[in-house]
Amino acid sequence: MTGREAMRWGLKLEMEKNASMLFIDPSSEVYINIPNISLAYAATHFKTRVIDQHILPYPRDRFLRHSADVLGISVRSFALEEAKRIADIYTAKYPSSEIKSVSTSVDVQCCYPFLDFDKKIVFDKPFSDEYPFPDYELFDSFNYLSTNWQTGLWNYSIMTSVGCPYQCTFCACRSRKWHARSAKNSAEELKLAQREYNIVSFEIIDDAFNVDKDRVLEFCGLVKPLKLRWLCSNGLRADRFDEESACAMASAGCDTVGFGIESTDDEVLALVKKGETIGQMEQAVEIAKKYFKEVKGYFILGLPGSNYEKDIASIEWARKQGVKPVVSYYVPVSQPDKIFYGEKASASTLAYPEERQKEIYRYSKKITRGWYYRQGVPAKIMKATFLSIFKYNLNSLLTHFIIGPKRFLSILFKGEVQ
Ligand code: SF4
Repeated sequence: MTGREAMRWGLKLEMEKNASMLFIDPSSEVYINIPNISLAYAATHFKTRVIDQHILPYPRDRFLRHSADVLGISVRSFALEEAKRIADIYTAKYPSSEIKSVSTSVDVQCCYPFLDFDKKIVFDKPFSDEYPFPDYELFDSFNYLSTNWQTGLWNYSIMTSVGCPYQCTFCACRSRKWHARSAKNSAEELKLAQREYNIVSFEIIDDAFNVDKDRVLEFCGLVKPLKLRWLCSNGLRADRFDEESACAMASAGCDTVGFGIESTDDEVLALVKKGETIGQMEQAVEIAKKYFKEVKGYFILGLPGSNYEKDIASIEWARKQGVKPVVSYYVPVSQPDKIFYGEKASASTLAYPEERQKEIYRYSKKITRGWYYRQGVPAKIMKATFLSIFKYNLNSLLTHFIIGPKRFLSILFKGEVQ
């Protein structure tokens, strides 16, 4: 830890001693390279420290060392069980503390919904330039986060907009109005992150970044001087992507883009109300390949109207096009999820046998494994682990040495980074 970081941490610890409120992000094994942005905004707004079990899972129960009048838990659906466990053991140790869920207008990240407890802490101002820039130094994972940002193992995650004007039946974002920050305000956050956290790369994790082409072009002009590498891999709309946007993004440092393809079958696309045809997607991919190092495609197996042949054709299409496939191969069937994903949602298990789903899964992972090696991910994991030794933070070190080998094995056997 540098002297400047130590001073900041001293101040934060001082804050903690007086804290009557503490936030926590429960751990899970999903998207561990993306901090909980919603919670970062809430913490910054309420000036509250965060125990970030999601990014820094060890030691697991360290939150029990802190007594607070209110423990605010950010309850993402994939971490619900851990959130309940935290609530139970915290109440057992501190019976007079209140447990609440923390929620903001940015409660959407990677399509997983956030859930509420009965009692809530709410920051529901619509997403706009009025929002403060997220202060990650409030997170106890800051040392670990910043190490990974500085080595480029992880990209600084930024949301420049939330929601989406489209109506795809399987997507959580469809029910959220599109709210965007200005290009200028988004670029300012990146300048600050570069100055304060020494980030070397960033990733836009908007639901629909390229809804407004003029905003995209302006953003590119503003971030170009920062000379940061960046990715726009969270699913661009192919029908709003053209040569001019591609050229502006690439010359501003973007080297990876992703499109929400879902399926290459036009009937399936129509059934899920994608509002695009495979022809439009092919055209976008064709342009993207000229400008970017990597082009990703997001696919969902088992969508209404699909079957084994159509799903395998989608993955095969990705292989032929040189698109890196990112595959979701399960659509839940329980009643609440039917409401969430749309009436026609069904698990792929109903469409064809499990063994054939696994075949597609293994096939897509084989393709992605090569991608991680080409991107030098194993070398970056090593670099971040060794850099952490010099930063003298025990929790951070512990996490690096437990998570690092897990990541290597995961790339080796599963073709994915965990
Ligand atoms: S366009 Fe993308 S973000 Fe928008 S509703 Fe469809 S899948 Fe969701």
